[in-house]
Amino acid sequence: MARKTRFIDSDILVIGGGFGGCGAAYESRFWGRDLKIVLVEKANIDRSGAVAQGLSAINCYMGMQWGENQPEDFVRYARGDLMGLVREDLIFDIARHVDATVHKFEEWGLPIIKDPKTGRYLREGRWQVMIHGESYKPIIAEAARKSASEVHNRIMVTHLLMDKARPNRIAGAVGFNVRDGNFYVFRAKAVIVGAGGASHIYRPRSVGEGMGRTWYAPWSSASAYGLLIPTGAKMTQMENKIVLARFKDGYGPVGAWFLLLKSYATNAYGEKYEAARFDEIKSLVGKYADITPMPTCLRNHAMIEEMKAGKGPIFMHTQEVLDTKEKEEIGWEDFLDMTIGQAVVWASQNTDPREKPSELITSEPYVMGSHATCSGAWASGPEDCAPADYQWGYNRMTTVEGLFGAGDTIGGSAHKFSSGSFTEGRLAGKSAVRYVMDLKGEPPQLDEAQIKRLEETIFKPLENYRVGRNEIVAGTVAPGYISPLQGLQRLEKMMDEYVGGYSTFYVTNEPLLNRGLELLGMLKEDFEHIGAEDLHQLQRAWELHHRILTAESVTQHTLFRQETRWPGYYYRADHPQLDDADWHVFTASQYDAKTGDWHMSKLPVHHIIG
Ligand SMILES: Cc1cc2nc3c(=O)[nH]c(=O)nc-3n(C[C@H](O)[C@H](O)[C@H](O)COP(=O)(O)OP(=O)(O)OC[C@H]3O[C@@H](n4cnc5c(N)ncnc54)[C@H](O)[C@@H]3O)c2cc1C
Repeated sequence: MARKTRFIDSDILVIGGGFGGCGAAYESRFWGRDLKIVLVEKANIDRSGAVAQGLSAINCYMGMQWGENQPEDFVRYARGDLMGLVREDLIFDIARHVDATVHKFEEWGLPIIKDPKTGRYLREGRWQVMIHGESYKPIIAEAARKSASEVHNRIMVTHLLMDKARPNRIAGAVGFNVRDGNFYVFRAKAVIVGAGGASHIYRPRSVGEGMGRTWYAPWSSASAYGLLIPTGAKMTQMENKIVLARFKDGYGPVGAWFLLLKSYATNAYGEKYEAARFDEIKSLVGKYADITPMPTCLRNHAMIEEMKAGKGPIFMHTQEVLDTKEKEEIGWEDFLDMTIGQAVVWASQNTDPREKPSELITSEPYVMGSHATCSGAWASGPEDCAPADYQWGYNRMTTVEGLFGAGDTIGGSAHKFSSGSFTEGRLAGKSAVRYVMDLKGEPPQLDEAQIKRLEETIFKPLENYRVGRNEIVAGTVAPGYISPLQGLQRLEKMMDEYVGGYSTFYVTNEPLLNRGLELLGMLKEDFEHIGAEDLHQLQRAWELHHRILTAESVTQHTLFRQETRWPGYYYRADHPQLDDADWHVFTASQYDAKTGDWHMSKLPVHHIIG
């Protein structure tokens, strides 16, 4: 069937209907009653993004109504966890608004568990509240669906469009429908990207029989970065990838076990290794070792050193804490709400958590901006509290005019989690409306020739396959093209071996990074010859494209930061110490899509909360 082209005009285009995107659609409608708000999503917003499976806790809630925490407390916490480097203005802005978001979630039907004694939300830890969250995503999606003028599911956005008349202004986006193959051209006065972070940049521990199993959703394909980087938007902290300590093989969450059930971890010989390694950690990172709770990366570091010393497996002593039926239910429900695979792994490995401990391990690295990590775009901050050099007009606008972001898209502000990402979407939506109103109706100009070129580029993998399949030698071995899976596995192996994946215990150095960049350059060349046998594989091809650009950005940033700021996330063996004198800064990059050059720079870290 012939491919059709569909043109869709809007005032505000939201790309990605996850937590950031749903928040953006909701709030854009609140402030922009008469605006046309279009939400476009590669899956279906009812079950898409990192929260597709559900969650068992909301990890960012202040509890200001009960005087539990203030936004300033949260900034101090996130700053400590990220070893001093966060955009305090952005985090403060989320913290002061996040409670209102959570209250809305409850109004919309999300069951938040209450403490029967106090009547308050039941806390898992200081910042987390427990939920019955299997249906978290559909509840939030409903609010976005009712707010948007149109929701287009099943459209993979591949590229952003720039204004023909003003080179640094956004004009829209293009993509294709993964079901019918139609080409979509979206024109918009403002664009909010909420397309999520990245799994499968690094080789996962689970390969072969467990292929594709990762902690982060396998469908999170780095589009938040892969879409922005080619526009020349300034990116920050892309080296700050995250490694998670999780239950082995199923990647089950450990938060409820550590914080609520008060379980603990030891090495194979029953030793509590975190405390034992304190002096050694202090010699690496100085004052940051004294922060309580101990920063996430440093806890990873202790576990990694223990495994390197041959003292694994590391065990979580579940059997010590499951002394009531209620606690046992909490333990299982924690998995069943958000990582069902872990319950299946335990069942398949004859693990009864009441009887024996379970193995923990550190994951492969992921790239994201909303967890205990803060990769993403450099964004303008809130007018009332951002330092002057952190603001250039509209809150959450990137360095590209009219291009906003939320959730994993925005860098420098860790620990947003689900509620904070939705809140950031709301903040971005509000200021995108103001931007559109200030424009007074002036629409961007599309470049017809560029759109034609992009259409050819986007569908070329189908053509590569159609022609190349005639030369298939055996199975999937084709001399003329590579498949998206072959490209993905090549990327993962490269990043793992050269840019600090698990197989090198997260260690890299300048020569390794330079060699990695060389090999990534070759992969970029070969991407021109990627073949897609159907629309599903075409989607895989463009997801790979976004992952490759993101991987290159991660590698460039890792090369630029000449210190080891986050031991446990990654190590520069040639710069093994944390170096506050030279590197108490944000790293920044701008990519030139015409030349393929990266411009690296440092940006100041301003501490606005004492
Ligand atoms: C494994 C894991 C566990 C977590 N646990 C918790 C927890 O317990 N509590 C908590 O509060 N938070 C938790 N979080 C954090 C929370 O899920 C994220 O902070 C939040 O989902 C980020 O929102 P986002 O909008 O940036 O990304 P997402 O919610 O992932 O949404 C991105 C959306 O963009 C779409 N998309 C991607 N690419 C494209 C494209 N090219 N074109 C069109 N659409 C596209 C995706 O399909 C998706 O719908 C967890 C995250 C992970 C990964």
